[in-house]
Amino acid sequence: MDKYQWNLNYLLKDDNEFEEKLEELKKLCEKIASYKGKLGDEQSFKEYYMLQLELENKLGPVYMYAHLGSDLNKKDMSKAAMLQKVMMMFNNFSIATAFEQPELIQVGKEKVMKFIDDNKEIEEYRFYMEDLFRKQEHVLNYNEEEILSTVNPALSKGRDLYSALSVADGKPQEIKIDGKKVLVTQGNWSSLVADAKKEKDRTKIFEALYKYYDDHKTTYATIYEGILQANKAYAKVKKFDSILESYLFRNNIPTSVYTTLVDVASKKNASLKKYIKLRKKYLGLKSYHTYDRFQELAKSEKKYSFDEAKEIFFKSIEKCPQDFKDKAREVLKEGYVDVYEKSGKRSGAYSSSMANCHPFILLNYTDTLDDVFTVAHESGHSIHSMYAMEAQPTTLQNYTIFVAEIASTFNEHMLLDYLMQSDDLDINDKIKLLQKAIDSIMSTFYRQTLFGHYELIASQMIEQDKVINYEVLSNIMVDLYKKYYGIDIRKEKVKELVWAYIPHLFYTPFYVYQYATSFAASFALYKNVKEGKKGAFDNYLKLLKAGGSKYPIDEAKESGIDFTKKETFLAVVERMDDLVAQLEKLLEERENNK
Ligand SMILES: [Zn+2]
Repeated sequence: MDKYQWNLNYLLKDDNEFEEKLEELKKLCEKIASYKGKLGDEQSFKEYYMLQLELENKLGPVYMYAHLGSDLNKKDMSKAAMLQKVMMMFNNFSIATAFEQPELIQVGKEKVMKFIDDNKEIEEYRFYMEDLFRKQEHVLNYNEEEILSTVNPALSKGRDLYSALSVADGKPQEIKIDGKKVLVTQGNWSSLVADAKKEKDRTKIFEALYKYYDDHKTTYATIYEGILQANKAYAKVKKFDSILESYLFRNNIPTSVYTTLVDVASKKNASLKKYIKLRKKYLGLKSYHTYDRFQELAKSEKKYSFDEAKEIFFKSIEKCPQDFKDKAREVLKEGYVDVYEKSGKRSGAYSSSMANCHPFILLNYTDTLDDVFTVAHESGHSIHSMYAMEAQPTTLQNYTIFVAEIASTFNEHMLLDYLMQSDDLDINDKIKLLQKAIDSIMSTFYRQTLFGHYELIASQMIEQDKVINYEVLSNIMVDLYKKYYGIDIRKEKVKELVWAYIPHLFYTPFYVYQYATSFAASFALYKNVKEGKKGAFDNYLKLLKAGGSKYPIDEAKESGIDFTKKETFLAVVERMDDLVAQLEKLLEERENNK
């Protein structure tokens, strides 16, 4: 066995065992579905959730075996078929158990909670039940809900329209660069821009990408207005005070979290503006465009083998508690990491885990400094999963997106600070590292919050019956880019249509801000550790151990992170100030030594 490849036999022996286990799972699903109409009876209720638990426990290895196997080789049709079989089973199962929630609601909160109180074996379903009944607060009477679900397919057409227009009917533009024809697509434009040496080529690529949005801006704005109207109707019928509230309610997030985030990011961004100016100066640009963000301030020729990357990462966490270090080694053990690129292998990197299963890491490692950070990042996800697995019962291990990027970025902070102090790097390596870290604050904290801010403004406008059209939407973006980045995107001709370019804004409203919150929490926790606050690392571990056992806001609070307070978000701002100051110094130093 190649030590740089996954060993999927840690999950199942072979494909035959997969088929056997899958049959077992299907039978289990059927058995669970047979409890329809019986959940009001205590004994049946208990049996039903015991079976659900059994399913959860047995599912992990089967699903992971199929999904990891297919990611190793997308061209292998037999692996694709295995994954499809598992997905089909999921689908049938969710249809067959669609009775569950309505039935529980009919049984009533009091009785259901008593069933949980009486049966310790299914205690871990308490949070699920409490959440179900919390959501009941906004459930209407039977007739009203029926009307709502009847009209719902018509109300939620907006996303289909967006995808029909953008994907199905979308037409990528062809342009000529240095005499060569290239097709500019959503998938390749950023690498085209990054590689383009001449300013005018970058402009050409960017305008080609946006041409389609420009040609269809009235349609895009009308689709967006439709989505806003539907959201407004939904929020009103469901008796929410605002569209924002109706979205945040799902994860029990107070709206003040959102407004505090937007408030801090839109006002505390002096270092972001300074960074843009530094980039303009040191890249020697006549004017700065948003698509110049892919240009590098320095190149690093440094190469690191995967084994070296691991050693550097381990050194960067040297001061962490032993238990944390042990887990870091555990998640990077042979057989759990698939390291190198291969034909047919899924691109990118991830850490994958299921309840009670050891996590697996996928990489496409190419020996660069960036790859070293990816190792630290994905290890963070895996370590988070390991802590949750250790501390939580089966159904409460899976953490939400709200906290998902905390452990991964925390590792990156430690690695960055370690490398910046090491003698191993020259000035260009350091500039490159700082740019990477600053860029990630820019793109994750400021950019995502800017989009969140846009959603907030647009939703408030529709609530106040104001007119929405492409000019209005573009104006919001123009104002926000001025506020956040200090740049006038009108100079870029088509950039103001960025609201049409971001699919999340159409597909999953009020979603992107969660990247920023997760990011902010990791900085706030790291700040406490770095400043040597008493119990800081234990507080951090508390959050990792919480898994998905509570609402994310409560998990964070117990670790000392209050998302309703400005301080949490100010930790990012402070880090940005520090990194930009370091960068400015190094850039000057390099300039003087020329
Ligand atoms: Zn991640």
